[in-house]
Amino acid sequence: MHITRIPILNYHKIEVHSDIGITSRHPARFEKDILFLREQGYQTITFEQYAAQAPLPEKPVILTFDDGYQSVFIEAMPVLQKYNFSGVVFIPTAFIGKTNDWDVQFGGKKYRHLNQVELKELAAAGFEIASHGRTHQSFTTLTPSALKQEFVQSKQEIENLIGKQVQSICYPFGSFNDSVLKLAEQTGYHFGMASLYFKKIQSQRPELALRRFNIYRQDSQAVVKRKITTNFYTFYGLRDWFFQLGGKLTPFYQNLRF
Ligand SMILES: [Zn+2]
Repeated sequence: MHITRIPILNYHKIEVHSDIGITSRHPARFEKDILFLREQGYQTITFEQYAAQAPLPEKPVILTFDDGYQSVFIEAMPVLQKYNFSGVVFIPTAFIGKTNDWDVQFGGKKYRHLNQVELKELAAAGFEIASHGRTHQSFTTLTPSALKQEFVQSKQEIENLIGKQVQSICYPFGSFNDSVLKLAEQTGYHFGMASLYFKKIQSQRPELALRRFNIYRQDSQAVVKRKITTNFYTFYGLRDWFFQLGGKLTPFYQNLRF
């Protein structure tokens, strides 16, 4: 099965508290999602396992966690382990062990990113730790040399920390263009996460611009089900594409005071 045919679901924070960004999933709902996937016969794989040509389960799914929040360790990891699942964690390496100062903090609420010890424990438990760049800036706004640093340094920092090769990257805000894809390939990445998009890409490597569905706070189980089984050219594809525009405006919100 080609990687582009494997459903990829994306989470951010797994938190009891909601926030305006709508990307925070309640832990109880998260466990229901996992239980549902399990009951439907899905099994998780990681990009590392795919690249190593490990035998694929009959119904593979990839669960990704953007931004590497501490709640992945506290809330998601125990649930996933309970059902023998794993996931892929994308961390902006300049924020390891720090708060999310790159993001808009509505009401001044900050969230902590995973620290080195937690990242090592996740890696030891079979989770894939991968790059979300260094500084969580949109890759399409950076100079070529700054962009290269995002790719190269984040990869190096994670590899130094966990002692494993990093093969996957998630483009902050899902923003990418053909030069981003080219540089990803040149700097040794095999898989790139792009969220939803409808534009044509020139790259011959579609695995460097993989589409994913985000799971939002309000998504019901029926919606989660649709997101695994339907393609992106549907109501939910269009709706989620629209939601992502909100995320892309983060640099703009940061200039406002809340
Ligand atoms: Zn992000």
